[in-house]
Amino acid sequence: MYFRRIRSHWLGLLVAASVVLIGCSSAPSAPDAALRSFSADRLLGHIRTLSSDEFEGRGPGSKGEQLTIKYLEDQYRSSGLEPGNPDGTYLQSVPLVGITPDKGMKLTLTGHGRTLEPKFQDDYVAWSKRVTDTSSIDADLVFVGYGVQAPEFQWDDFKGVDVKGKVIVVLINDPPVPDPSDPAKLDPKTFGGTAMTYYGRWTYKFEKAAQMGAAGCIIIHQTERAGYPWEVVRNSWSATQFDLATPDKNMGRLAVESWITSDFATQLFRLAGQDLDKLMQAAARRDFKPVALGLHEKLTIHNSLQTIDSHNVIAKITGSDPQLKNTYVIYTAHWDHFGIGPEVNGDKIYHGAVDNASGSAALLEMARAYKQLPTPASRTILFLSVTGEEQGLLGSQYYAEHPLYPLAHTAADINMDGMNVHGLTRDIVQIGRGASTLDEIIEAVAKEQGRVVKTDPEPEKGFYYRSDHFEFAKRGVPAFDPDEGVDFIGKPAGWGLEARRKYTAENYHKPSDTIKPDWDLSGAVQDCRLFFLVGYRIANDSRMPEWKPGAEFKAIRDASLNSAGSRP
Ligand SMILES: [Zn+2]
Repeated sequence: MYFRRIRSHWLGLLVAASVVLIGCSSAPSAPDAALRSFSADRLLGHIRTLSSDEFEGRGPGSKGEQLTIKYLEDQYRSSGLEPGNPDGTYLQSVPLVGITPDKGMKLTLTGHGRTLEPKFQDDYVAWSKRVTDTSSIDADLVFVGYGVQAPEFQWDDFKGVDVKGKVIVVLINDPPVPDPSDPAKLDPKTFGGTAMTYYGRWTYKFEKAAQMGAAGCIIIHQTERAGYPWEVVRNSWSATQFDLATPDKNMGRLAVESWITSDFATQLFRLAGQDLDKLMQAAARRDFKPVALGLHEKLTIHNSLQTIDSHNVIAKITGSDPQLKNTYVIYTAHWDHFGIGPEVNGDKIYHGAVDNASGSAALLEMARAYKQLPTPASRTILFLSVTGEEQGLLGSQYYAEHPLYPLAHTAADINMDGMNVHGLTRDIVQIGRGASTLDEIIEAVAKEQGRVVKTDPEPEKGFYYRSDHFEFAKRGVPAFDPDEGVDFIGKPAGWGLEARRKYTAENYHKPSDTIKPDWDLSGAVQDCRLFFLVGYRIANDSRMPEWKPGAEFKAIRDASLNSAGSRP
């Protein structure tokens, strides 16, 4: 496999761009050498190692984890970074429990004189997050539309119907409510219009079902509405699943969580004498009422359990300002992926080259670049490689619940999950734009690079809730969740979105997420420089970034700052 080197005129442009940046920077120490030092070759080298067969897909608790955390630690140490854990190590232990369901499980759905026996993985996936050997369902099915209770939108799919002990069947995403003034569009005032809100996420569906006392929840998969194809669901949930080890052993969770394919859902609703398409239309209305399907589900899942001591890896560069050094800018990237899983086209190692060997590589390069500064930034910079992202943001959740440095003193999180591997862009995408004063910093840096900041081109996919920065944001830390640009230099309009679509359809969460011959990491370098400068400016500015009025997480931040007595 070969890598197309950055053509020399691009390199020239990049150097010229960084010179312009120095001129505009008001920072105490010129970051030009640090900026110039970002290397596409070094990024590719890290990605090649982390996504290699030897690293076995970087599953938490596996030999792949041992190799990965050692590699990250060795890199941080050789770049001259300090151990990030105050105990003098580069590691934070993250206790996980691994639950592996027996794949021989048999699901039966009986009613109206017939029984359906769908095939595990082909028609459905099911699991239990309860830390117990056996978890069973023996209950009736009720269709509850989108399974949403959202008082701010006067929306309640349950309408007082008691679903205790039942299995609820729900649709993925937010209810698609037509705009009263133009029924061809979605109403931007009800849920997020085309943008997915948290009500649309699968995590919400299971949390809500448990809160309503249901025994189980079945989500009907639809590729467009979920944002990813069935293979992603199947591969994500058929192998060992991890969770944080909690004192209640997750007994507050559902007995069984599951997804079914849309094809199987059609069969299931036909057996119930219902038309799924019609019910879906009904579910997009406020007056929707739950529908008992007259079907009974039986399923027993046998689990094998393991406790795993997984790890976040953390390094730091202590700030140069006597006061500000006790405040922090944190860069995050998850190191984990799915390890070894179901075989696809003869490969069972989930290499995760883009997701997220690339972000891990960028984090290592970021740390190395910060060490090139003649004087460190005023605030302390933390570099946190987290575990368990693919299993539900577990490593970042653990860090946020057990922070090594106070979150109230953490100025911002900058997260890297999937770097641009397709070359230079004229734009950069900021997921969740409009919420904090980070917007202005990001925009200024992008402008100096001759780029524009865009909002999420795929807001319907709910990306803001899908990576590690969310664990910081929901606890009040302003967070920058960048995504690669879509306007590629030298490529026709629409090429970037097509490249994304192709990656999601063909490689995302599949063994085939590997280094490709046509990769061009010049765009990753361009983005690294932007992320560097954004963090660097925050780190040298005595004003903490703030949420804007009305932002979802502003109240939490205000409370956190007040209780820490650190209002700036
Ligand atoms: Zn992923």
